[in-house]
Order: sequence, then structure tokens, then C-alpha cells
Amino acid sequence: MPVLTLGDAFDAGWRVRTKCLGLLYVEDKLFGGCGEKCDLSMETLVWTRGRALPLSKLPERLKCPRCGSRRVRLLYDVPSEPISGEESVQVWSTKDVE
Ligand SMILES: [Zn+2]
Repeated sequence: MPVLTLGDAFDAGWRVRTKCLGLLYVEDKLFGGCGEKCDLSMETLVWTRGRALPLSKLPERLKCPRCGSRRVRLLYDVPSEPISGEESVQVWSTKDVE
């Protein structure tokens, strides 16, 4: 089943991290990339944005708390199918949804 919305991702156990792509300026001089990172709570996102929000629309709803940029990259951590005999080992792969 394709994961297209926040609700789908929540049901599938995805986790989401952000990385800011904005630029920091100090006294009008370019200081460098912001790079602020955060682990977002998928559950909180579903509570606040609703299950129906498409994942493709999520980045534009986010804003970096450090530099105020809306240029935010999202990385989804997707749980892989459990390997038989090694069920205690949870392997996560990272999926990049543009
Ligand atoms: Zn930032």
C-alpha cells in the first residue's frame, strides 16, 4: 500500500526527521548553512495537521525555529519487514520523499 498521507505514514510506523536548508546571516553577512535538525513526532503531526495531509505538502507547513526558513528537508525512517529469526532486530531504512 503506498504511503501518501500523514495517516498512512503513521499507520506504517514511519518516523520523520527534518534538516533545515536555510542560510544564517549575522549582521547582514552570510554566516553559513543553518542545518538545524529535529526529530519530529509523527503522532503530533497527525494530531495537528490531520491524517489526510499529503506528505508532499508537509515541508511547506514547517518552519525552522532557528533561522525562520521554510526550506526544510524531510527524511523518513521506514521500518523494514522483520527478518525471520531475527525479530528483535529492527532495521530502519531512510526514505527521501520529495
Ligand atoms: Zn534553519
